Amino acid sequence: MTAQARAATEETAGLLSLEEAQARMLAGLDPLPAEDVPLVEALGRVLAAPVASRLTLPPWDNSAMDGFALRAADVAGASHDEPVRLRVIGESAAGHPARVEVQPGTAVRILTGAPLPAAADAVVPVEETDGDDAGPAADEVLVYRQPVPGAHIRRAGSDLRAGYPLIAPGALLDSSALAASAAGGHAQVSVHRRPRLAVLATGDELVPAGAQPGEAQIPDSNSVGLLAQAVEAGAAIEALGIATDRLEDVLGRLRAALATVDVVVVSGGVSVGRHDVVKEAFEGLGRLELWRVAVQPGKPLAFGRAASGVGGDGDGGREVLLFGLPGNPVSSFVTFELFVRPVLRRLAGHVDLAGRLVVRARLTEPVTKAAGRRAFLRVRLERTDDDEQWLARLAGGQGSHVLSALAAADGLAIVPEDRQTLEEGASVEVIVLRQLGER
Ligand code: AMP
Ligand code: MG
Repeated sequence: MTAQARAATEETAGLLSLEEAQARMLAGLDPLPAEDVPLVEALGRVLAAPVASRLTLPPWDNSAMDGFALRAADVAGASHDEPVRLRVIGESAAGHPARVEVQPGTAVRILTGAPLPAAADAVVPVEETDGDDAGPAADEVLVYRQPVPGAHIRRAGSDLRAGYPLIAPGALLDSSALAASAAGGHAQVSVHRRPRLAVLATGDELVPAGAQPGEAQIPDSNSVGLLAQAVEAGAAIEALGIATDRLEDVLGRLRAALATVDVVVVSGGVSVGRHDVVKEAFEGLGRLELWRVAVQPGKPLAFGRAASGVGGDGDGGREVLLFGLPGNPVSSFVTFELFVRPVLRRLAGHVDLAGRLVVRARLTEPVTKAAGRRAFLRVRLERTDDDEQWLARLAGGQGSHVLSALAAADGLAIVPEDRQTLEEGASVEVIVLRQLGER
């Protein structure tokens, strides 16, 4: 074994694989209980109970066009050269029951969505008549074309049927699902409760975002990034501020949060330095379950569980998940994405825990990374000139402090544990982080 290989083996000894760590974090975790919420508030949440339609839609046959309801046989052979003249005996408008019945040789003026009058079997759009020229009061119409029977008629029940399933549990409620629920006669739906997540930053060097940093100080960017990632993953959030690198300060702030949240994320202080107090804090609150995972960036990651009992409100049995994420801003982002996001999505009721598109792309340059850890490189995605494939280009420096490269990236290119280098042109999987085309 070369000295380099030995060093790499020692580096990775005792590290959990990504999948092992994820499995232990998700163990025993069920979706949160359901609650009924008004439709628009359910946007982005996961359905807990099936939605069946209460209504049949359309409720009756109706017109898909503005035009004339008639009997197709009455205008047999109609053309521009030889139009057929019909008597207009009334009108059917949306929101009003159709009271007229079409008689042989007659038509009923009809508007989009209006009920089809009895005995009509087709609608001729106004553009295929002289109806626009003749005006709305004309009592005759010239029809220029014979419709096929059923033309421009929307049949009763062609969209929804009362009692039929509309949306299955586990579905993500987007705008179209919510509109369909409203059409089906619902004002609210049953969704899983949103997970509640609190973020605590630790570090003597941190000042709140926007404050002027003093000597040896930097902005706390992780609180902002992590809270925003939590919202993106469907959580309700709480900021616990910035703790100093003292155990009592960290413990005190976390204890107060346990009563109200499902997940606590602590940023920084999770490594092996003298000021790294987070693991000890987790042991003080509950238990530390795992530490150090074979990913790059983000190796020093801690996970534990605690009982929420300190609130004294009878929910002492509820378990709070504790994540200690590395302080380096890119490590913070990547470990949230890989470990906290799936947990939040499980709690929120999602079936697909990552909720990300993964595409295959070719590297535009060679890359290197640490042996024994799975790397997540910050890349931009481009199309090849023939538009057939994706290309992955490094979005900037790959140091775990280079937030600007993360901000410029479209995704995370995955390089497996057993590789230290990949050639230009190598094929990689890329976790897509944003809606492509949004820049
Ligand atoms: P730590 O994990 O506490 O050892 O921090 C590792 C690196 O990340 C150090 O350079 C810290 O200054 C930086 N860092 C820690 N917490 C934050 C934060 N909340 N925002 C920005 N940078 C941070
Ligand atoms: Mg620190």
